[in-house]
Amino acid sequence: MLLSRAPKGTSDVLPSQIDYWYHTENIIKEVLQVYGYREIRTPAFEHTELFIRGIGEATDIVNKEMFTFQDRKGRNLTLRPEGTAPVVRAFLEHNMGRENPLVKLFYLGNMFRCEKPQAGRYRQFNQFGLEAIGSQSAIIDAEIIQASLAIYQKIGLANLKLIINSVGCRKCRPKYLEVLREYFGDRRELLCNDCRERYDKNPLRILDCKNEKCQLQIKNSPTIFEYLCEDCKNHFQKLRNHLETLEIEYQVNPLLVRGLDYYTKTAFEIISGELGSQNAVGGGGRYDYLVEELGGKHTPAVGFAAGIERIIATMEKQKVEIPSWKGIRVFVAAINPEDYSLALKIIKDIRENGISAEMDFLEKSLKAQMRLANKLNVSYVLIIGGEELKLQKVTLKNMANGEQEIININQIVECVK
Ligand code: AMP
Repeated sequence: MLLSRAPKGTSDVLPSQIDYWYHTENIIKEVLQVYGYREIRTPAFEHTELFIRGIGEATDIVNKEMFTFQDRKGRNLTLRPEGTAPVVRAFLEHNMGRENPLVKLFYLGNMFRCEKPQAGRYRQFNQFGLEAIGSQSAIIDAEIIQASLAIYQKIGLANLKLIINSVGCRKCRPKYLEVLREYFGDRRELLCNDCRERYDKNPLRILDCKNEKCQLQIKNSPTIFEYLCEDCKNHFQKLRNHLETLEIEYQVNPLLVRGLDYYTKTAFEIISGELGSQNAVGGGGRYDYLVEELGGKHTPAVGFAAGIERIIATMEKQKVEIPSWKGIRVFVAAINPEDYSLALKIIKDIRENGISAEMDFLEKSLKAQMRLANKLNVSYVLIIGGEELKLQKVTLKNMANGEQEIININQIVECVK
């Protein structure tokens, strides 16, 4: 039983689904290169400390969702639960800011969080993300949003909504946290257990709780806008102006917060009407202190991350058409077992010309080989062997109209092209 089931919260991407993945990954790479983001590949695991420092101790991810283990020397390692902290670690390790004041990177890869699995929420999932490290300008926030939306659009997703907010900065957020503590202080008993804990560690996180009981209290809680400092207010207004110039529609939700502690100023989410409770297809924001938190000099930055499984689920629901595998074009059937090595040589020649070709690998009868060719829905079957072969000739059968012709063995590639 254990050996024939993937671990809880993980799943296989089967060949029947792989075209969705190719399509999505290709578009992500294509669009992001056009936008000037270069791919970075970081390890699947990092030192645990990176995530504790980077994501924040008061977050659900660090508190209860990390897959952490010790290597043989007793070092604490963690399978990456997200991509931003590793990218910033690599940015610092390779001193990437030295030559360019603005470094634009993207990643694609699997992430690991020990969450309760449900539709749209897995323990191993895939994200793509982009990070722009080095600018404090709201214009780069707008570019990140623009690039993310361009990807969804090119993939063919419809009905997406952009929600934005500002979560303040070190200067103004403490005051807001105080106000939130005051507000939820009187209502602590009405909150779920997790939120009671969040109350002590970071009351901002309560705003993100999906529990119905908590939602009732969150609805009327004070919003951050009155407490934003001038700098944060200006930044937010500029972002709105940029989005308007770009004709990007958005909604402001003053209660939007993100699950990771490092966000400052801009926070945003892209949601799909199609996905039920796990409706966020992606989210991001500004993280102006993360680089220094991880040991670098003050470097403002902004990023975005999206779950690929959720994008694909949305594509399936919206019946988005994708280019699919064309199948096999040529089947080489051998009349006699001694001709199999020649068949293998012929399919190699055909394949080297970029044409898909198959043969029988079970050493079946010619009749069974023809059945297999039919099942594969090939365009041509080449039959080799017998008297013809002695004359260096083979039979080419066009499967669409059933016509057969005898061709020279050295004409094969030319004929099936
Ligand atoms: P986050 O890193 O939490 O901001 O998540 C960014 C995006 O990744 C979300 O909007 C989801 O699309 C996706 N995501 C996050 N956690 C999971 C998960 N456990 N399973 C599947 N997708 C996820």
